[in-house]
Amino acid sequence: MGRVTFHFEFRRYSLPFRQPVRTAHGVWTHRDGVIVRLEDGAGKRGYGEAAPIPWFRTETADEVEALCRELGTPVKAERLALVPERLGCLRGALASALAMVEGKREGGSVAYLPVAALLPAGRAVLENVGPKAEMGFRTFKWKVGVGDVGDELALLDDVIARLPVGSKLRLDANGAWDRRRAERWLERCADRPVEYVEQPVDAESRGAEDLLRGLAGDFPTPIALDESVAGAREVERWLGAGWPGIFVIKPSLLGGGAGEALGKLKEARARVVFSSALETAVGAQAALRLAFAHGGEGRALGFGVWPLFEDGRFDGPRLAPFIRAEDVERISPEAVWNALS
Ligand code: MG
Repeated sequence: MGRVTFHFEFRRYSLPFRQPVRTAHGVWTHRDGVIVRLEDGAGKRGYGEAAPIPWFRTETADEVEALCRELGTPVKAERLALVPERLGCLRGALASALAMVEGKREGGSVAYLPVAALLPAGRAVLENVGPKAEMGFRTFKWKVGVGDVGDELALLDDVIARLPVGSKLRLDANGAWDRRRAERWLERCADRPVEYVEQPVDAESRGAEDLLRGLAGDFPTPIALDESVAGAREVERWLGAGWPGIFVIKPSLLGGGAGEALGKLKEARARVVFSSALETAVGAQAALRLAFAHGGEGRALGFGVWPLFEDGRFDGPRLAPFIRAEDVERISPEAVWNALS
C-alpha cells in the first residue's frame, strides 16, 4: 500500500460569484480554492476540492497551493497521509480523490433530500417567500442579524404569515448578536414555528461557548452551531460536551476527519444539517454524497445555493426543492477540471 504512487496534479481557481456574497466578514466576490487530481498506474482518476474559508479557521487557498507544489508528482500514498492536520481542507480533498481512485463509496441511504430555500436579509425577504413557496420549497432560511434588531423582529410575523402551512423557518444570524439581542430574538421565537436559530453569537467572542449553552438551556427554540463547528475536532468537542442543539455540517470544511466525525454524530443521534461551503460541483458532490450516506432524519439540505458562479460550469445541480441521489451522481468532476484549463 505504502508503495503505491500516483500522478498528482492540481488546479488553483478564483471564480467570481454571480452576485457578491455578503457575510459578517464583509463582501465576498470570488471563491478561491484548489482542485486536486490523483491518477494511479492503471489510469484511474480521482478528484477532490479544497475550498477553505479562512474565517472558519481553515487554512488559506495559498497554503493549499503551496503544499500541492511541495507534493509534486509522482507522489506516494504515504506522503499524502503526511499532509499536516492544519491543512484540513486539502486533507479532505486528497481523501476524496483517493476514495474515487479506489472506487470506495458509501451507498446512499435515501433517494432524495429536501433543500432549504435561502431568503435575503431585510425587507427583501417579504417578496421572496411567495415565489420560493410556489417552486415547492417548504423549508426556508432567512438571514438575520444584518439590520437593526427591532426592524428585523418586526418583519418576523410577516415572514411567518407568508409561509405555506407546515413550513419550517430557519434563522441564521452568522454570529451577529450579543447576549441581549440573542435573548430578544429567542424570546420572540419561543411560540413561533421556527425550526432553529443558527449561530446567534460569534463563535470566537469571549465566553461564546458558555453563552451558547446558556441560551440553549433557557429557550425552547433549538440553536444550531455553524461557525462554532468548522473542523472535525470542534464537532467532536461539542458532541462530547453534550450539545443539545443542531450541528450545521459543511463537509468541505471538516477535513480528512469528516467520515469519523459524521460517524460519531450518527452514533449520538445528533441532529445534523448538511450545508454548502460555496464550493464548486467537485466539493459539492463529495459533500452531498456524505449527506446522502448519512440520511439522518432527512432534514432539508443547506444547498439552495445554485446558480452560484458567474460561469455555470462550476455549479452543482440547479436549484429545486429536492436534490435526488442521481443528481449528485450526475456531477462530473472531470468537466469542472477541464473547465479550469
Ligand atoms: Mg450559517
